[in-house]
Amino acid sequence: MASSGYRNGAHRGSSSTKLDRPLPAANLKSSSFKSRFTPSHSSGSALRRSSPASFSTNDGVPGRVRVAVRLRPRNVEELAADADFADCVELQPELKRLKLRKNNWDSDTYEFDEVLTEFASQKRVYEVVTKPVVESVLDGYNGTVMAYGQTGTGKTFTLGRLGEEDTSDRGIMVRSMEDILADISPETDSVSVSYLQLYMETLQDLLDPSNDNIPIVEDPKTGDVSVPGATLVEIRDQQSFVELLRIGETHRIAANTKLNTESSRSHAILMVHVRRSVIGREEIISSENGDSSHLVKPFKPLVRKSKLVVVDLAGSERIHKSGSEGHMLEEAKSINLSLSALGKCINALAENSAHVPIRDSKLTRLLRDSFGGTARTSLIVTIGPSPRHRGETACTILFGQRAMKVENMLKIKEEFDYKSLSRRLEVQLDKLIAENERQQKAFEDEAERINIEAQNRISEVERSFADALEKERLKCQMDYMESVKQLEEKLVLNQQKHDCDGFMDDKCIGQETGLSAAEDVAEIKKLLGKEIKLRKAAEEEVKNCKRQQGQDMQSEAGGDPEVLKLRKILEDEAHQKKKLEEEIIILRSQLLQLTFEADQMKRYLDRGGSGNGFAGLDSSMSPFRHPQYRDSGNGQKASIATLFEQVGLQKILALLESDDANVQIHAVKVVANLAAEEANQKKIVEAGGLSSLLMLLRSFEDETVQRVAAGAIANLAMNEANQELIMIQGGISLLSMTAADAEDPQTLRMVAGAIANLCGNDKLRMKLKTEGGIKALLGIVRCEHPDVLSQVARGIANFAKCESRASTQGIYSARSLLIEDGALPWIVQNANNEAAPIRRHIELALCHLAQHEVNAKDMISGGALWELVRISRDCSREDIRSLARRTLSSSPTFRSELRRLRIDY
Ligand code: ADP
Ligand code: MG
Repeated sequence: MASSGYRNGAHRGSSSTKLDRPLPAANLKSSSFKSRFTPSHSSGSALRRSSPASFSTNDGVPGRVRVAVRLRPRNVEELAADADFADCVELQPELKRLKLRKNNWDSDTYEFDEVLTEFASQKRVYEVVTKPVVESVLDGYNGTVMAYGQTGTGKTFTLGRLGEEDTSDRGIMVRSMEDILADISPETDSVSVSYLQLYMETLQDLLDPSNDNIPIVEDPKTGDVSVPGATLVEIRDQQSFVELLRIGETHRIAANTKLNTESSRSHAILMVHVRRSVIGREEIISSENGDSSHLVKPFKPLVRKSKLVVVDLAGSERIHKSGSEGHMLEEAKSINLSLSALGKCINALAENSAHVPIRDSKLTRLLRDSFGGTARTSLIVTIGPSPRHRGETACTILFGQRAMKVENMLKIKEEFDYKSLSRRLEVQLDKLIAENERQQKAFEDEAERINIEAQNRISEVERSFADALEKERLKCQMDYMESVKQLEEKLVLNQQKHDCDGFMDDKCIGQETGLSAAEDVAEIKKLLGKEIKLRKAAEEEVKNCKRQQGQDMQSEAGGDPEVLKLRKILEDEAHQKKKLEEEIIILRSQLLQLTFEADQMKRYLDRGGSGNGFAGLDSSMSPFRHPQYRDSGNGQKASIATLFEQVGLQKILALLESDDANVQIHAVKVVANLAAEEANQKKIVEAGGLSSLLMLLRSFEDETVQRVAAGAIANLAMNEANQELIMIQGGISLLSMTAADAEDPQTLRMVAGAIANLCGNDKLRMKLKTEGGIKALLGIVRCEHPDVLSQVARGIANFAKCESRASTQGIYSARSLLIEDGALPWIVQNANNEAAPIRRHIELALCHLAQHEVNAKDMISGGALWELVRISRDCSREDIRSLARRTLSSSPTFRSELRRLRIDY
C-alpha cells in the first residue's frame, strides 16, 4: 500500500454503489474483469509474449483493484440445518450484482467486477480473477491475488487446491504457475518462489520451518518491500512447484499444530518472482556489405523483474469476534492486527484519506504495493450461503466494496542488464580475437606456402638456365675444337704440298710457297677472328642469359598470373586483419564506455536520481574532459591506461584517420581522454597525435568530433613544450578558423581554453597577435555563455600578464597588442561582469595593462580608468584591490587625470 501520492481518484466510486438508485452508465458497462486500462491486455484470452512496444513505460497506468465475489455451495451441514431457509444472498451474475437479504421483503444490492455463483468452475474463477494479473506479471508489472472471507467459505479451496485427484479442482496458485511456465523462455528467464506464513505478526518460512522469524526489509529509496531471509526456490517445471506447495502445506499444518492453532488464523503468502530478459531497441546494425560483425551499436539488454503475490488471508470473522471464541486475548489481538490494519488501509485509500496506516502491521507492509501501489491487484471475497452468517457475509461484502475503490498505478519494473551486456560484449570480443588469431595463422601459412612455391620456381628456372648455359658452352667448345682440327689438317696439307714442289722450280717455288703461306696465314687469321667473334657472341649471350635470369627472378612473381592472384589474396588478408584489429579497439572502447556508463548510472541512482548529472557546461578550467568521462574516477583512468597499453597509442592515433566516421568518433574520444592525463600528453604529441587532432578540427564536419578534438588540443596546450609545437604546426590559425565557424558553446569553450593556454606563453606573444589569436578570442565572445566568456577573459589576462612582464624586462615598449587588436571595449564592458571568474580575470588584465604608461591614454579614453578606480575601491580581493591602487598612483597620466576630475582614489 503506497502513500496517497500513488493514488488516482479518477475512477473512484464508480463501481461500488449500493443499488438503491440507478447505477451510473459507466458502472453498468464494466463487464470485463480484465483490465480496461492496459492496451496490451485488450485481447486477454491467450497468453502472449510481451511486446517491445510497451517497453519503457515508466509512467504508471491507472488500474483499480478488481473485486470478485464467490459463493460457496451449501455444505452438508447447511443442507440439513438450513433446509427450510433461503440463502442469505441472491446472485445476478449476468448483471454482476449480489442481493443481500435483510429480511423476507427487503434486500441491499451490490455490484462487483465479477459475481461467481456456487456453480462457477475453478477454471472460470482463475480466468476471470487471476489470468489478467498473471499476464501483467509476465509483462513486467507486479501482481497480487488475494482471497478474503470468513473461515470455511472457500479461500483455500479457491487459491490453494492442488487438484491432484481431479484436475478440474486445481486452484489459482497451480494454474498461475502453469501459465507462467508456459510463457517464459527457460534460456533467458527465470521463476522462483517463496512460501510464507504470517501468524501473530511473525513471518515464518513454509519451505524451511526452522526459519521462523523472517524480517521484512524495505528499500529506503524505492520503498520496495522484500523478504531476503525467505527461502527462494527456482522453479523449472510444474511438478516441482506442486511438490513445493505440498511441502509448504505440510509445514503449515505442522507449524499450526506446534503453535496450537489452525490454519484459518494465519495468512499464507506465496511469492512468485519472475525475471525476464528483453532486448532493447538498439539492434545490431549491419554494414553496407552485410558483414554484421563489423561495428555493433551497443544494444541494451533489459531485465524485467516482477512479482506475483498470492495471499490466502486468515478468516475474516476474527476481526469481528475477537476473543469471543475463547482465544487468548493476546493472540486475538495479534491475529486481528494484520487483518484489521488491512481493513483500515483500504478504508483510508477508498476515502482518499491523507494518511494510510501501512506501517501498522506486517501484512500491510508486505502488501504495500498491492493496494494503492504499482501492482495489478485482484481480490476475491468468498461468502457462504447460510443465513446464520448473514452478519459476517455483510461485513465481507462491505470489505469488497471498499476495496473496489482503491486505485493503483501500474508500473513496469525494468532495469538495464549491464552484467549481461558486458558478458555479451566480452564473448564477442573473445570471438573476434580468436577469429583474428585464426586469420593471422592462415595468413602466415599462406605466406609461407607462397614463399616456398616461389623458391621452388626460382630454383627450377635457375636449373634450366644452368642446363642451357652448359649446353651452349659445350657447343661452343666443340665448334672451337672442330675449327682447330680443320686448321691443323690444312697446315699438314700445305706442308706436304710444299715438300713435293721443292723439286721443281726453286724460284717459282719460293714465290709460290711465300704466296700460299701468306694466304694461309691470312685465312687462319680470318678463321681465328671468326672464332673470337663467335666466342664473344657466346659470352655475350651467356651474359644476356644471366641478366635475363636475374630479371626473370625478379619479375617471376609479378609475371605469373597465379602468383599475382596469391599476392592479391595476401593483400586482402592483410587488409582484413587490419580491419579486425580496428574492430577490437572499437569494441574495447565500447566496453569501456558501457562499463563506465553503468558506473555512472549506478552512481546517479545512488544519488537518488535527483538533478541532471550530465547537464550544463563544465566550468572547471582544465583539464577538459569529454562529458561522457567526467567524474569517472580511478576506475576509468585505469581502464584508459589499460586500453593504452593493450592497443598502443600508434594504433589509436591511426584510427583518427580511419575512413569510418564512427571509428573516428570513438578514436577521438579515446585520444581526448588520454590527453586529459598529463603523463600521456608528451607521448601523444611525439606520436603525431597533435597534428592529427588539428587536422580533424579543420576537416571534420561533425560537431561532436570537433568539440572532443578541441578539448584534446586544449589539454595538450596546457604543457609549455606542446604550446610551441601547436604554434609551429599552424594550430593557432586552425583554432581561429574553428572559433569563427563553431556554434556549439562546448566547442567554443574548448577552443577559447586552448587559445587562453597559448596566451600564457611569453614566447608566443607576437606570433599569437600576428596569426590572429587575439582577434579569434574576441570573436568568440559572440557566444555569451559565461563559461566561454570566462575562458576568453582568462586568455586576455594571460596575454596582458606576459605583455606586462615583457615591458618590465624592457623587451617590449610599444602600446599593448590587446589595445591594438581592439580588445579594450570588451574588457571595459565586462570588468564588472556578474560572473566572478570573468570579473577576476578582467580585473587582473586591466591592472596589467595599466602598469605601462604607453597604454594610459587609450585606457582613459576607453573608460578603463573608471573601472580601475572601482577595482581599487570595491574589488573583493584584497590583492587585486591594492594592485589597482598601486598602479593608479604610480602612473603620472592617471594621477593627473584623476586630479583633473577631482577624484580621490
Ligand atoms: P477457507 O479457506 O475459507 O476457510 P476452505 O477453502 O477450507 O475455506 O473451504 C471450506 C470447505 O468448503 C472445504 O471443505 C472446501 O472443500 C469446501 N468448499 C469451499 N468452496 C467450495 C466450492 N466452491 N465448491 C465446493 N466446495 C467448496
Ligand atoms: Mg483456509
